[in-house]
Amino acid sequence: MDRSHGQISRDCPRRGLSLLIFLIAAFMFGPALSSVRAQPQTMPANPAVTQSQAPADKPDPTLTLAIGDPKLKGKTMEIGPGAILSGRTGQPIGFERMIDEMLAARIVHVGETHNSMPMHEIEFQVIRALYAKDRHLAIGMEMVPVTLQETLNRWTAGILTKEEFIREIRWYVTWNFNFGYYEKIFDFAREHRLPIYALNAPREVITKIRMRGWDSLSDEEKAFFPGVPDVSNQDHRTLIRTVFEAADIPHAMKGAGLDQVFEGLYRSQSAWDEVMGANAVRAAAAEGRRVVVCVGSGHLLYNLGLNRRAYEMSKLPFKTVIAVEVPAGKKALPVSRALGDYVFGLAPEDKPAFPTIGLGLKKVENLENLVVDPKPIDGVAARAGFEKGDVILSAGGKAYTDINELRMALSKLACGDEAEFKVLRAGAVKDVLFKCEKAPAAEPAETRSPELILGPGLEEEQSPKGPTLKTPAEEADYLAYSQNEAIASFLSALAARTPELRVSNVGRSLPDREYGARDIILAVLSEKPAAAPDELDRTKPTVLLTAAQHGNEQSAKEAALWLLRDLAAGDLRPLLKKVNVLVMPQTNPYGNFRDVRVNELDLDMNRDHVKLEAEGVQAIHGVFRRWMPEVTIDVHEKGDDYYRVSIGCVSNVNIGPSLQDFSRQVILAEVDQALKKRNITFFEYLVTEALGVDTSSGAARVPGSREEREQMKRYSTTDLNDGRNSLGIFETLSFIQEGASRHDIETLKARTAWQYSGLRAFLESVAGHAPEVLKIVGDHRARLLERAAARAESDPVHMRMTYVRDPAVPELHLKRFERGGAAAAGRVLRVDKKAGETVSAADFVPTQGPGGARVVDDLVKHWFPNVEATLSVKRPRGYIVRGARQDIVETLLALGVEVGLVTRDAIVEAEVYEISAVVPSPADYEAPESIDVAAKPVKVPVKKGDFYVDCVQPAANLVPSLLEPQSAYGLIRYWKFKLVPAAGGLFEILRFTGASAPAVIPYKSWPR
Ligand SMILES: [Zn+2]
Repeated sequence: MDRSHGQISRDCPRRGLSLLIFLIAAFMFGPALSSVRAQPQTMPANPAVTQSQAPADKPDPTLTLAIGDPKLKGKTMEIGPGAILSGRTGQPIGFERMIDEMLAARIVHVGETHNSMPMHEIEFQVIRALYAKDRHLAIGMEMVPVTLQETLNRWTAGILTKEEFIREIRWYVTWNFNFGYYEKIFDFAREHRLPIYALNAPREVITKIRMRGWDSLSDEEKAFFPGVPDVSNQDHRTLIRTVFEAADIPHAMKGAGLDQVFEGLYRSQSAWDEVMGANAVRAAAAEGRRVVVCVGSGHLLYNLGLNRRAYEMSKLPFKTVIAVEVPAGKKALPVSRALGDYVFGLAPEDKPAFPTIGLGLKKVENLENLVVDPKPIDGVAARAGFEKGDVILSAGGKAYTDINELRMALSKLACGDEAEFKVLRAGAVKDVLFKCEKAPAAEPAETRSPELILGPGLEEEQSPKGPTLKTPAEEADYLAYSQNEAIASFLSALAARTPELRVSNVGRSLPDREYGARDIILAVLSEKPAAAPDELDRTKPTVLLTAAQHGNEQSAKEAALWLLRDLAAGDLRPLLKKVNVLVMPQTNPYGNFRDVRVNELDLDMNRDHVKLEAEGVQAIHGVFRRWMPEVTIDVHEKGDDYYRVSIGCVSNVNIGPSLQDFSRQVILAEVDQALKKRNITFFEYLVTEALGVDTSSGAARVPGSREEREQMKRYSTTDLNDGRNSLGIFETLSFIQEGASRHDIETLKARTAWQYSGLRAFLESVAGHAPEVLKIVGDHRARLLERAAARAESDPVHMRMTYVRDPAVPELHLKRFERGGAAAAGRVLRVDKKAGETVSAADFVPTQGPGGARVVDDLVKHWFPNVEATLSVKRPRGYIVRGARQDIVETLLALGVEVGLVTRDAIVEAEVYEISAVVPSPADYEAPESIDVAAKPVKVPVKKGDFYVDCVQPAANLVPSLLEPQSAYGLIRYWKFKLVPAAGGLFEILRFTGASAPAVIPYKSWPR
């Protein structure tokens, strides 16, 4: 709401002017605000004139105050036109470097002088450059009061034309500067669907504080503000006082009462900074986006204004850009290093970009026409000779009754244009010629072009439109791994154009010292948009895709984003008629950022699916139990293998065998066929390990002398702390996809394409069998509940398993690479090869370096395709967990297990396990090497506050697997649960054997 005033500006250099605008406006026009509905569109006098009248050697005192950051205050740096200086270092900084530094900030404040086009250009360039790095961006604007937010939303949504927008937001009533100054920013926001947030309070409320104090506000008016304005910051007071005193204050205002006038001004200035600061914070919080705030520099200087207040409210990191004009004839100007984080030096502008209109207008009662008030003192209107009280009959031959409409018309006048006014003055009609100054003469480029300041490389980027929206990896030409911010931006852009896509945060990784917490994102795609599970069309199967649990398996995430894009806006859209698709493209943001396997807690997330310590794993299980998908697929990378894509099924024998058969015989067979057509090698995922060793638990210990043993191959794993089995145990069609990888950036594009092809073929296969998938999973889940209730002797739960040979298939024929020396190191093969064919350099991606790797037949003699149970227990009715074991219960809840809280003390029938012998494992994550138990029937008291876990529930197979002492998959194998009893002791979790379950209420764990 800064308003400029020519009569003041004549005696001030432009720099001082920009500061004074907001101060002086208040007392020049304050009293009249109640009667004048619009401020004159006054602009500063021609700065060329200003400069000549202002003594060039009279420094602007506001630039070198010893206030602000204690480390920098009192230190100055010399800024010349065209330079960008870093306040922190006092040294020049490149534009790109500055933008990189800004990526650490959640709010970037850019100060402007409202009628300085170069300053608006800086705002625009900062917005554009930040957007290029991270699409998750929003814009905050001083120019609009919060009461008009809806109009901004309609603009960004593309609903309004420019003319409609200016009309609806009443631009020339709420703001006094030509829309053209801001046009590029508004256009960019609309083009890229960036939200724009109004920051201002209605101007009359700010004025009221200044005139009559905070207490005069109504509750409704107070509600605009975060609270009573804080006026206690001495540095800020010094700043505003300096501005105040440097102004050529009208004579009448000097002397007695000046302090009182200042207090009023200072109070309203503080309230104003606070309301805009609070709204900037709200904007940053609203969608978790970074916000670029565009406001008058006076609100930002020395990081003491709204930027300081926003930080105090939110602790959101921020950066501030200030631009200063270096007077003509000066090479440089001293400015405080505390003035802003980045200070731009600008050459003086000869003339503002748009003609200074300077015509104040008002409406009076019972008169349709507009009336001139006050007498113009500046700009075109002053030169035209308007008088206060002139009634405007017509302008350019047209009658106006609305201030905004007339100003819109005047705003279109360019320099050199003219318009004829007819006015009624003292009872007579007069002609008034409204003639804009001629356009300024062409200026030397270095003083005019903001492009020059910003340096090369900022040419217009191509705008993502339609189905060609690029994934972050495509945007980077596969020369960089996409990170969390870029993923969020991409999904926002995709969601903005795809109503079928709903994106939400389902978790947040933990902050590490150098890499902060990041959102874990879920994208939901369905023909009928579903923001919540109960909105999902359950007549179609739902597929959950999770990617990049292992952070260095980067192509998984890139392919997931590609698939999402093609489902949302590409040629895979028709699949949404058959399936719902849930995608968690980046479950381990930290690992992706560091390009390491583990997460920020050093956890291997794909061995964490029982104890759920990783935020990303909690998020997966949270999504799974809320949405209960019929199909899940977890995407990974393995070593560089002849088989470019592998998909594995589950192997835990508790999971319905016909689910595994369907997975293998239908889905994988079809994927194999589809990939063959695309010349991509495929085989079911196999694990190689030393004979007699099972490495699947993820225990840190490496069993001795593996290298000396012969190698065996088997399918997948039976372990429930692995992602696919932990979801499969709910009778889910659960899969893992592994892409071949050398984990180098050169092959990222090829690897991503393989992964994408595999996922696409997989999804097409599932969609092709949609009714079957729905039925087979539905039937299995229903049947499991019946089995859990029946507890048949013939239907035990399997606790331990082993991989065994299949007598019918004693050997396995595969192909593999045989490498000759370093020939193909670092390269990845892109074509299928027949056994014995030589691989040439041209077959590799990228095509350089000598070939030499051969494809050879591989005969696997130790082939263990089957799994057999080695220990099983009768299905229990339920389990009793003592009230003290909250840790166990929390884990069960996170895994989607329903737990009851006992509400009455009672004596119940149960079985307790007596331990006769136990050999604990030397490693965490492993079950005891041996444990001998005997179940004894007992009558035991259960107390109010104990827990009861019934086995008639969807987790019917999971519960015994977790709670039985002899389970290879149980909680007993994690040291953190301290469940291994001593020999002769009792296992602390009891099997309930009573006829009817204890009285319980469902136990809930409330979200943190
Ligand atoms: Zn992996």
